[in-house]
Amino acid sequence: MLRNDYEGQICALARSLELIGERWTLMVIREVFLGRRRFSEMQENLGIARNVLTSRLQRLVDAGVLEKRPYSERPHREQYYLTEMGLELWPTIVTLTYWGDTYVPLPGGPPMILRHKGDCGGVINDRRVCEKCGKELTVRESVATEGPGLKPALRELDRVGRVERSAA
Ligand SMILES: [Zn+2]
Repeated sequence: MLRNDYEGQICALARSLELIGERWTLMVIREVFLGRRRFSEMQENLGIARNVLTSRLQRLVDAGVLEKRPYSERPHREQYYLTEMGLELWPTIVTLTYWGDTYVPLPGGPPMILRHKGDCGGVINDRRVCEKCGKELTVRESVATEGPGLKPALRELDRVGRVERSAA
């Protein structure tokens, strides 16, 4: 067991944060929700150090949030899936994402919009209800789509990167 960040706290929230409050952990879980299941995909998209990603994934597997399943035998390759325990973090991720869009927004608006998968296509609100058909949705009925803030934010990242590279 790793060191305890909230020693002396008898609190379920502290116990949850002990596991999912670590830096990068919820981002790794979000990657799997978005269908990026392979180590290399997550590493590339997050730009996270390989050793950090390895340790976060291992911790989540040990805790039962993720499970590894092989997708190739030769060479042996595995990808990550959310267990029931992991899938139940979806409301938390949706809530924190909307909270961020509201209180620490990007200048161009939300970079991602959740929609009701399939024919409906309605926008899913912060209570995970489709604003078009009124249905309360599960993660399997949702799909992440590009929001208006994504492209401006990517351009800004690129601009900052170029400034930093030219200053180096
Ligand atoms: Zn709908």
